[in-house]
Amino acid sequence: MQNIDEPNEPSKVEIPSPPESYQLVACPLCKREEALRYEARYPLAVCPVCVGQITDNSGRRLVFYEDALLGFTGYYPDSQGKEYYKSRFCYVKGVRCWAEVMRFGGIVIQIYQEKT
Ligand SMILES: [Zn+2]
Repeated sequence: MQNIDEPNEPSKVEIPSPPESYQLVACPLCKREEALRYEARYPLAVCPVCVGQITDNSGRRLVFYEDALLGFTGYYPDSQGKEYYKSRFCYVKGVRCWAEVMRFGGIVIQIYQEKT
């Protein structure tokens, strides 16, 4: 009969597996694989490395940040915050992408596809 005061055997301790929502996802743009929180809602979301390379259509570096009023705003980091970018479209390595506020906060950059 088992003594209920006896602690569990250490060998039975399971190493917790990462949450299932984290999967190895290949970036749709650069094909680099990274363990990301997979969002089925955003299948064309690019990876953080690509997000760090977004530009406008002339190749000038852009940054999007969250804005309490507008959702998000884009600006040119080389303008010391004085010059804003009005569009939600941006480019990564010449591929047209667009910025969107995610359902639960944060900004997602996705490859843009024309609606057919
Ligand atoms: Zn990427």
